[in-house]
Amino acid sequence: TEVKPYANEPFTNFALEENKKAMQAAIAKVKTELGRHYPLTIGGEKIETEAKITSINPGNVDEVVGYVSKADQKLAEQAMQAALATFETWKKVPARERAEYLFKAAKLMRERKHEFSALMMLESGKNYVEADVDTAEAIDFLEFYGREMIRLSQVNETQPLTRIPGEDNNISYIPLGVGVIIPPWNFPLAICAGMTTAAVVSGNTVLLKPASTTPVIAHKFFALMEEVGLPAGVINFIPGSGAEVGDYLTTHPKTRFISFTGSKEVGLRINKLAADTAPGQIWIKRVIAEMGGKDGIVVDETADLEAAATAIVASAFGFQGQKCSAGSRAIIVESVYDQVAERVVELTKQLQVGPQEQNFAAGPVIDKTSYERILEYIEVGKQEGTLLVGGGKAEGNGYYIQPTVFGEAGGKARIMQEEIFGPVLALAKAKDWKEAIAMYNDTEFGLTGSYFSTDEDRIAEALETVHCGNLYINRKCTGALVGVHPFGGFNMSGTDSKAGGYDYLLLFTQAKLTSRKI
Ligand code: GLU
Repeated sequence: TEVKPYANEPFTNFALEENKKAMQAAIAKVKTELGRHYPLTIGGEKIETEAKITSINPGNVDEVVGYVSKADQKLAEQAMQAALATFETWKKVPARERAEYLFKAAKLMRERKHEFSALMMLESGKNYVEADVDTAEAIDFLEFYGREMIRLSQVNETQPLTRIPGEDNNISYIPLGVGVIIPPWNFPLAICAGMTTAAVVSGNTVLLKPASTTPVIAHKFFALMEEVGLPAGVINFIPGSGAEVGDYLTTHPKTRFISFTGSKEVGLRINKLAADTAPGQIWIKRVIAEMGGKDGIVVDETADLEAAATAIVASAFGFQGQKCSAGSRAIIVESVYDQVAERVVELTKQLQVGPQEQNFAAGPVIDKTSYERILEYIEVGKQEGTLLVGGGKAEGNGYYIQPTVFGEAGGKARIMQEEIFGPVLALAKAKDWKEAIAMYNDTEFGLTGSYFSTDEDRIAEALETVHCGNLYINRKCTGALVGVHPFGGFNMSGTDSKAGGYDYLLLFTQAKLTSRKI
């Protein structure tokens, strides 16, 4: 059968009563399933362990989402052996057949969309829109990477090698081997599904170690892949601690690649550990790392200031600022600074804090560690800038923090330089648009950025000089769409990989050239 051209999954409009009701019904259903136990799965075998990860609802810390079995080094080794054995058969499955598993999973996920979103909501603290967008992105990754593998497998026809007489030359993109997949909690379905299936559709087998705060939604994705008949051992589901299981597998001689999304600190640690050659290792491990950001929005005096203020607030506070794309800085030209700052404060005050399942604009942050770290940064901000709104914890039986804005932050302030990963925005003043761009670029990161202006010459220059992987003009800096805005950044933001783009599967394959005399 024909594969339809790729198109993005539409978002749900929750202004419509029927859609809101459908989501509420899904939440009610998911609530009846909370507190279950989830096993590890190694080579298709379900294993319950004594040690568990307890996943709780960050918006209501008395609610247990589930108990997930936890791998240790022995089980990690068992999973490695299962993945190695399965690789020998999986790598021979034709690309089209591998892609079909992803298409089937996409279809089922689409049918059960709100159920996925509702579970994710309770486990991660996303509100309706944020959860819906995450599920839509997961579907997009499945559809996109399935098609990408088919495209790669046809490259000799679509992009033929230069012909010479007397030879038949072909290139094929073959898999690497066993990969360790370490996804983040902030897109606990989309990025988990995207990282895992990109590797798998390329012919690799994987050890999936989900984020410890969101293992239940990760399990739901894993169970879906089982349901569509993906052979046992292609994905091995092994929750566990980074220090124990993560390090063990990163340094393992049979690990061929590590695909990681998370903090700069952990990414650099993985990169360092992976650089060492273990006894018996016969390759250089590949590290694909998506790390942090200190993303920002630059506004000049010619800009549509209302649009800029709206984008600043959306970029800073969507999912409580817990996106690596979050716009945690705004750099505004002096002559319009007061006007923009005032509007940003007004819009921020409108964000009501409360439980995600009641669809408040500002829900909880992920866990206690994050909560405390963010509150500490807010105290740092009080020393470094002027507190304009927010400034501390908010009411509720969870990790609630007021959306917080600081004004007059200096370019070198910690709140202008360090990734906070929470609902904290710093505003800074620049004398003109050139200085504003220079301040934007004064960071070790380089993931997303926006420039607001109506001046064509300046926009042309900004397109060249603003140094980041995803640069947006006159729009917010979050919300990259699969296939539309390939996503990934420069410098300390990672290994310059582009999720949801045409280069992505190349990271999970190696090209083999065959040349035959005829
Ligand atoms: N792709 C997401 C966006 O554009 C961010 C992903 C992340 O935070 O890791 O907003």
